Amino acid sequence: PRPIELLESALEETKSERAKIEVKGAVVHWYKCDLRTQDNKALHLASEKAKEKGVPLIAMYIISPQDFEAHLTAPVRVDFILRNLQVLKEDLGKLDIPLHVETVEKRKAIPGRVLELLKEWDASHLFANTEYEVDELRREAKLVHSLLDNDISFEVTPDTCVVSPGELSSGTGKQYSVYSPWYRAWVAYVHSHPDVLDLFGPPSKNPPVARERFSQIFESTTIPSAPANKSITPEEKKRFKSLWPAGEHEAHSRLQRFCTERIKAYADNRNFPSETATSSLSAHYAAGTLSARTAIHTARSHNTSKSLNAGIQGIQTWISEVAWRDFYKHVLAHWPYVCMNKPFKPEYTNINWEYDDANFTAWCTGQTGYPIVDAAMRQLNHMGYMHNRCRMITASFLAKHLLIDWRMGEKYFMEHLIDGDFASNNGGWGFSASTGVDPQPYFRIFNPLLQSEKFDGAGTYIRKWVPELEGVEGKAVHDPYERGAGKVVEKRGYPRPVVVHKESRERCLARYKEGLGRE
Ligand code: FAD
Repeated sequence: PRPIELLESALEETKSERAKIEVKGAVVHWYKCDLRTQDNKALHLASEKAKEKGVPLIAMYIISPQDFEAHLTAPVRVDFILRNLQVLKEDLGKLDIPLHVETVEKRKAIPGRVLELLKEWDASHLFANTEYEVDELRREAKLVHSLLDNDISFEVTPDTCVVSPGELSSGTGKQYSVYSPWYRAWVAYVHSHPDVLDLFGPPSKNPPVARERFSQIFESTTIPSAPANKSITPEEKKRFKSLWPAGEHEAHSRLQRFCTERIKAYADNRNFPSETATSSLSAHYAAGTLSARTAIHTARSHNTSKSLNAGIQGIQTWISEVAWRDFYKHVLAHWPYVCMNKPFKPEYTNINWEYDDANFTAWCTGQTGYPIVDAAMRQLNHMGYMHNRCRMITASFLAKHLLIDWRMGEKYFMEHLIDGDFASNNGGWGFSASTGVDPQPYFRIFNPLLQSEKFDGAGTYIRKWVPELEGVEGKAVHDPYERGAGKVVEKRGYPRPVVVHKESRERCLARYKEGLGRE
């Protein structure tokens, strides 16, 4: 069985036993990638359960450096998570809900430690939202049983997607592996189940006894600094803090600003990286400071139609982008082998990749001599973020122009993105390298120069991130060595292109054909 099925059956098999468990001294919500108080399903359910018997609700977050390592979590993302935890602690504190934060060195030790804590707090009920990564699903499935052996009910509930994996299947009962029909089914599902866009209220205030009984958590919990393997410099700390203010209030005001100021023009402007046209909310979904449900609910309230695929075009397009996130979670849940370094399309397993260190380093550091690629990689390295169009250009360039194993790029992105999310990142890389679910056909190879001219015509984005090209005028900014600015930029240390587009294209087509065993 797939890991998602393991969890589902663990919950189903234990349902009646768990229902018999009486509420004891406390109810616990286990925070993971859902660092918010608003519209958080498991937190809401935990709060309702605690209220039923008038016992305190405790919130818990466990940091495991090994977890961060296993998920290739970027230092910028770890920093963001820790800052979000600080805001969360304050928000929960206003409701007299203690937040216990603890570092557990080994991932394997987490279930044991969770049990110890629950016993220490005399807690009978644990709640968490489902995460779709394989190890987490397996761990939660086991934990449902082992906690029940200790008379504790563990409820794991789907929350992160608007339409949860497993809800949609095609007419023939198969799982969708193409986005467009899946999206039509997704929209139809939301229209026929309008309650999926109902928001969950924040938790209730704890009874007064909570402050006294759990004074130790209130008083002694501090948010730790990043583990040594994920630390950042003071300069980076300052920069990330100002680029990415933390907390759910910030996420909500970003969403509101986007919906009032930019969403209507989203369809027209979203592909231009020099414009401030997209929502920049992905970091918040990844940390869970904003739910996709709230985002779509709010966007819809700005539309002229209640329907998700009618009314203002910008709003429709934006909603369909947020749905990509659901789509890739659906892919991860149903084809969990994508988590195991395998391409979604097995026939792409035999491509003979280059493992050229110099080219890989040039790509990582923004020194390929292709200005649009270099600008994008430098944006990533500086901000922990890259515009979607540029993610496609750089991913395609690595896999197709440099013929470097896309998994090296996928890993690099995860190690540097503030919004690093396994499912979306893996999906984006599979799309760009043509190895994934519903990908670009392999013979469609982005021409970085044409992409650059089309989406950064004036070169504003390039000049912002590649100072060596400041002052290079006109179209030369896209290709300085071929367009008469070679001498100037060479003096400033800007590299010559590491590959020639036409040759790389031919080499890529030949190599993909060979890997696929095609003539
Ligand atoms: P907006 O344009 O405002 O879009 C709204 C939301 O829709 C985004 O916040 C995001 O949640 C979702 N979304 C939009 N496009 C996609 C998409 N193609 N796939 C999945 N969700 C999407 N997104 C991540 O959140 N984490 C990643 O690790 C990630 N890695 C990527 C890697 C590659 C190679 C590619 C091509 C795309 C990747 N994306 C990833 C998707 C996309 O680039 C980002 O979600 C988007 O750029 C975030 O900016 P925004 O919030 O302003 O997006």
